[in-house]
Amino acid sequence: MSLPLDIADPRRRGECPTLEVPMATGDGLLARIRVAGGRLSPDELKALARLAASHGNGLMEVTARGNLQVRGLTAASAPFFAEAVTGLIEVESGLVVDCSPLAGEDPEELDDPRPIAEAIRRGAEAFEGQLGPKVSVVVDGGGQIWLAGLKADVRLVATGRDRWVVTPGDGGEMDGGGAVRVALKMLRALAELGPAARATDLPQYRAETAPHPGPPHEGEGGGPVGVGWLRLSNGFSMPVSLPFGAADAGMLAALADAASAAGVQTIRLAPAHRLLMDNAPDGLIETASALGFITDPADARLRVNACIGSAGCASGHFPARAMALRLAPALPAGVSLHVSGCPKGCAHPRPADLTLVGTSAGYGLVIGGRAGDTPATMLAEGAIESAIASAGRQG
Ligand code: SF4
Repeated sequence: MSLPLDIADPRRRGECPTLEVPMATGDGLLARIRVAGGRLSPDELKALARLAASHGNGLMEVTARGNLQVRGLTAASAPFFAEAVTGLIEVESGLVVDCSPLAGEDPEELDDPRPIAEAIRRGAEAFEGQLGPKVSVVVDGGGQIWLAGLKADVRLVATGRDRWVVTPGDGGEMDGGGAVRVALKMLRALAELGPAARATDLPQYRAETAPHPGPPHEGEGGGPVGVGWLRLSNGFSMPVSLPFGAADAGMLAALADAASAAGVQTIRLAPAHRLLMDNAPDGLIETASALGFITDPADARLRVNACIGSAGCASGHFPARAMALRLAPALPAGVSLHVSGCPKGCAHPRPADLTLVGTSAGYGLVIGGRAGDTPATMLAEGAIESAIASAGRQG
């Protein structure tokens, strides 16, 4: 028996995969799971990994925004996968409103963003159907997780206790209630413009309100990302990064087992492809590293972004993550690299120091630009490592 299934079309502008409406990709259907509150127990992570292995191809991803994705589902398996996931954990739907994964427990945050995020979600319910699926809100209470690199149509940033600035807006400070009202006003204006509208279409949008590129240790899938310990009001959390945002289900199930055996109760999904393990004892970091996760802030893989490439995308000219793994040891210190299966540049829309891009003419190397820019040079397969090493040194 198979259940009816809607499939998101990646060719339609603004389409986003969800659990109920997965997206067709080169390796089957991709489902994005918006875990409510962004927290899982080790048992839940293990159960999700098992479902990914039995219903999909076993490849899982943590996105730049901290969402979980499962690849390789089929039209037959996807509805059963969705049913099993919703029976296991609470899944969010509706308007995307992102906060720090440490929200409410971060001793360095200026204000708790969660009540504001909840008020915006509730307030937008009446008109969210008219908003495009990519429209999003970031509510940034400050603290250790820097959200400035996450794209948002409406952004609320705490400047102190119950003091907020909203963009687009007039740049003035207001209390939380006022910030919610302004945010909803902007969202309603977007809804009136229709599902194709984004914040840049609003008259209130000003170029200077565009997302901040973020400090060098954080950001949307880009730049070096810190993996140091994070303080909680009641303990600490240990970040573990997925190499290039991906891991197979067996690797994640083994991590969940180790976390469970170590007494970890909460695993948080975090921006920049990370999992945060609350109150993890020392031994867990070595286990995570041995399993293939990134735990060392100096690991060169943290300076490399890569999409799946031809291993799971019909537009890819080569398997980008496999190439990224090959090139990471050659990357000079401090240099960032984007390995992109094609000029679309999904894994890193911003410029990188070096970008290796697949084209119909072969491998292109872009210096200081984006995947869609004209390559400075075209490379033969055997010359890529040395070109990356020397271009990085010159840069
Ligand atoms: S950059 Fe190209 S190859 Fe990579 S995921 Fe996007 S469309 Fe596919």
